[in-house]
Amino acid sequence: MLKGEARPPQSPLKDMKYVVVSGGVLSGLGKGVTASSIGVLLKSAGLRVTAVKIDPYLNSDAGTMSPFEHGEVFVLDDGGEADLDLGNYERFCGLDLYKDNNITTGKIYSQVIEAERRGDYLGKTVQVIPHITDAIQDWIERISAVSADGSGETPEACVIELGGTVGDIESSPFIEALRQFQFRVGRENICFVHVSLVPVMGPVGEQKTKPTQHTVKELRGLGITPDVIVCRAEAPLAKETREKLAAFCHVSPNAVMSAHDVSNIYRVPLLLRDQGICDALDIDCNATDLMSRWEDMADRVDNLGDDVHIAMVGKYTGLSDSYLSVIKGLEHASYAVNRTLVIDWIEAENLVDTTHSDWDVLRNAHGILVPGGFGVRGIEGKILAAEYARTNQVPYLGICLGLQVATIEFCRNVLDLEGANSTEFDENTPNPAVVFMPEISKTHLGGTMRLGSRPTIFQVDDCMTKRLYGGVSQVDERHRHRYEVNPDLIEKIESAGLVYVGKDETGQRCEIFELRGHPYYVGVQYHPEFKSRPEKPSPPFLGLLKAASGETV
Ligand code: GLN
Repeated sequence: MLKGEARPPQSPLKDMKYVVVSGGVLSGLGKGVTASSIGVLLKSAGLRVTAVKIDPYLNSDAGTMSPFEHGEVFVLDDGGEADLDLGNYERFCGLDLYKDNNITTGKIYSQVIEAERRGDYLGKTVQVIPHITDAIQDWIERISAVSADGSGETPEACVIELGGTVGDIESSPFIEALRQFQFRVGRENICFVHVSLVPVMGPVGEQKTKPTQHTVKELRGLGITPDVIVCRAEAPLAKETREKLAAFCHVSPNAVMSAHDVSNIYRVPLLLRDQGICDALDIDCNATDLMSRWEDMADRVDNLGDDVHIAMVGKYTGLSDSYLSVIKGLEHASYAVNRTLVIDWIEAENLVDTTHSDWDVLRNAHGILVPGGFGVRGIEGKILAAEYARTNQVPYLGICLGLQVATIEFCRNVLDLEGANSTEFDENTPNPAVVFMPEISKTHLGGTMRLGSRPTIFQVDDCMTKRLYGGVSQVDERHRHRYEVNPDLIEKIESAGLVYVGKDETGQRCEIFELRGHPYYVGVQYHPEFKSRPEKPSPPFLGLLKAASGETV
């Protein structure tokens, strides 16, 4: 479709509302939370919602990116390895998104270059405008028509978050595509929301508007006039700040939103609603009971009971974004048991030194969680944490690598299999407890793991995890791994009390273990954190929090 051309009447865009969320001044302003909160408001207006995240980097997906640099890799049902913002959308808006809901420069360019090689543009010079910008718009149009809320029906509203900061070279083709997109869908069907920062300076704590003025000027220079400005600030925006921003940024004062610090994340949609963002979006967000449920949840989260300490034994412990969904999983479960969650971060490597103060932290925790991970660093410490939990009856949840290290520990210390290890960490181990899965590629690292939603079939009726999942016979959870428990050892391990109560559909691959005679010693090969929701905590997390709070699971 050419620039500015009217959309065809049969276009899925016909009744679609788009909300584009961009950001300025600096990264990490909470654009994702703003976009998700807008999704919640659209949903509360009774609309079927979906979401798109644009990441202007050249990687095809986030799968090969370090959690150190980019935060966790969020895994989708279809095996997509995406930016963690997709997790925010799923949790806030109750969606199950697809890999195509995450657009990257890498994906768009590969598609256009492939089309060029096929001869699709024969005779033409292939250029950023119109070929890349058209590809972006076509992609958005196509994926926004795909149901993501479980209804199976075409969505009515789509939130599009543009990653990065306006003015970056990388994001300019996307800005240009979105500028054109307003003509494709009709200006009345698209709302531009720009998230900015209002810092405070000087002895009287004056709220400074200049950074926002500049970023809006930049955005307008690129052809996009924001309808709403969301200002991150420590304290609520003063009346004068709001008026000044409106005057300099060409928006109505009612469209300047104060996104100041609040007691918990669930207050953000309420905060935006209370300042009238729904007028700018032209929706009635009281059309359903969703907002009152959010109010209840926000209040509940502010008034949780006694502390429950969970020791998180990982290797990116300085960076909570690296474990964002795991933290969310713990939080959701803590709401269900009405406890205030305290996460005690333990750098796995430190545990190898038995005199390290992290041992005191571990000993004081009510529960221990070993999350997923790759590479050898910290492995021996994680094995020690698993041993400590097993032998001291401390509730333990091992996720993916956490299941694998507990299996290694069990083989070493219960079965006396000397030097037992995963072949990921010791290729020549005399006792491979965890082995490379036969179908996985050793030469291509992008998108080649066992990924996405796979079934787990319960093997026994009487087990904790089956009860936690509500007695179902099968669960579908998301995966991301290359190694598995050595099938040749399963019988031996099970006869010593560590029972693989959940296996894949072939009955060969281990998915869930439970230790007999322990209050809660559970390992899962999948990542339950990706499907945890505030109002519906993930069952393995709920089990951990219950056990850590002294309840029988
Ligand atoms: N490194 C392990 C594997 O590839 C565990 C992966 C994970 O924890 N996500 O199997």
